[in-house]
Amino acid sequence: MVYITHFRKKDKNTAMKHKIDPKSRMHSAEHLLNQTMVRMFNCGRCFSAHIEKKKSKCDYHFDRSLTEKETREIEKRVNDVIKTDMPVTEEYMTREEARTYFKLDRLPEDAGGELRIVRIGDYDACPCIGQHVNSLREIGTFRIVSSSFDSGVLRIRYKIAQPAKPQGLSNEQ
Ligand SMILES: [Zn+2]
Repeated sequence: MVYITHFRKKDKNTAMKHKIDPKSRMHSAEHLLNQTMVRMFNCGRCFSAHIEKKKSKCDYHFDRSLTEKETREIEKRVNDVIKTDMPVTEEYMTREEARTYFKLDRLPEDAGGELRIVRIGDYDACPCIGQHVNSLREIGTFRIVSSSFDSGVLRIRYKIAQPAKPQGLSNEQ
């Protein structure tokens, strides 16, 4: 099992600091959001995602809008998982083996015979080639900005607030 690490190597001083790429944090939050959606609504993971530094969005095949209560519940569950600070680990398995555990319909056929499985503690696991945080607290606080429903597609837009900032999150609005 290999822990994924992210280091920036711009110069000697920053190379030793553990700088976390905002997109890794956003993308790791996407894993948690997906698993939370699957558990709450038995829908699939998002079929499309746009992960950006400041704001990201995920699209789900769905049949209605989310209520405010559901939106807050999703947020709460994702943040509760983040607080557990479970490690994010990776392992490899053959495509055939992976097929018995995961839906592989989003993976291109030429993704290779061996797939990387990204596991978040005992909460989530899925094949993924993206970059992730090492442990969940690095993500920060997850917040759903808005959601909308149109033609069978539920879109959830979210942000994350930096972890462990002493005061103020002025750039998160
Ligand atoms: Zn991923």
